Amino acid sequence: MKSLAVLIRESGASLPYTTSRPLEIVEIDLAPPGKGEVLVKIEAAGICHSDLSVVNGTRQRPLPIIGGHESAGVVIELGADVTSLKIGDHVTTVFLPSCGTCHECTSGIPAYCSVGAAANARGEMINGGSRITLNGKSVNHYNGVSCYSQYAVLDERSLVKIPDDIPLDLAALFGCALLTGIGAVRNSAQAQPGQSLGVWGLGGVGLSALLGAVISKASPIFAIDPVASKRELALSLGADVALDPSENLRDHLPGGVAVAVEAAGRADTLKAAYEATGRGGITVTVGLPRAEEMLSISALSLVSEIKTIKGSYLGSANPRIDIPEFVDFWREGKLPVEKLLTSTSPMSQVNETMDALQGAQVVRQVIHPH
Ligand SMILES: [Zn+2]
Ligand SMILES: [Zn+2]
Repeated sequence: MKSLAVLIRESGASLPYTTSRPLEIVEIDLAPPGKGEVLVKIEAAGICHSDLSVVNGTRQRPLPIIGGHESAGVVIELGADVTSLKIGDHVTTVFLPSCGTCHECTSGIPAYCSVGAAANARGEMINGGSRITLNGKSVNHYNGVSCYSQYAVLDERSLVKIPDDIPLDLAALFGCALLTGIGAVRNSAQAQPGQSLGVWGLGGVGLSALLGAVISKASPIFAIDPVASKRELALSLGADVALDPSENLRDHLPGGVAVAVEAAGRADTLKAAYEATGRGGITVTVGLPRAEEMLSISALSLVSEIKTIKGSYLGSANPRIDIPEFVDFWREGKLPVEKLLTSTSPMSQVNETMDALQGAQVVRQVIHPH
């Protein structure tokens, strides 16, 4: 079938993108869903920093590619042997499909799936190949999702069914921002009630980590970002103290925090978060810095201060367990996702949304493909 979609032909275009327009609306052909795959009508797609990273070249993905990895929509067609979904189901996309049989999956953490990660790196579906063509030529999938499109073919293992009562504009954020941010706090750091916690970088993922800290009853909670409006938002979401990165967290808490979450995607921010982590504490990083960035920390401090530093991808989550729980939190008023949603706009405005994200003044923008 035909679908309007957002193509990235090459990365590294000059700013502003409203002038260079690296994101191009094209009409693609989608193959019918294969075995274990479904066709989804995409209703809302989030603009995440890792989408921007593909556009500006920070994150290498095989090009040309149809963008987008965070979205929500409705299942409209089933391929053969689909067992977990039916037509009409509302779904959230997950940007790492889990094969269910590799060593990592059978160890209990689908977010570590090595088969899904390899397919993502190749720009293919987890069952292999692409379902997207443009003028007869194959185009790559972005993390098995490619949701900047009116319609998308996804493996059922890239989807989580969600209840019908959550608006799809909000549900879109569950598959990346919320899963990554809340998962970093709850799964990776295993933050406990009464533990001090800091979040560096207050975008969609960082503020989701903050919401995870509130749910985990961490206290006090520090929020660190150079943008004043984001610090204000963090305070309204439950942070106790909001700091500019030029301020020293240890002036407020001399022993440092028990849990530090770095969500800015910069090595220097990770260093600051590590140095603000107290004795016996853990620094979790979810950011994706440029591949050539190196982290320089005191090697001695790891042992002498008994510290842990840990990477967290997809929140070390089990999406089919975690996302329904997050929807319950939202329904109970514990997860005000709507406060993370800065704006909604038509898909034709996608270059404008990338400029806004680059400018760092927005949290989460959502585009509508239809
Ligand atoms: Zn993302
Ligand atoms: Zn696997």
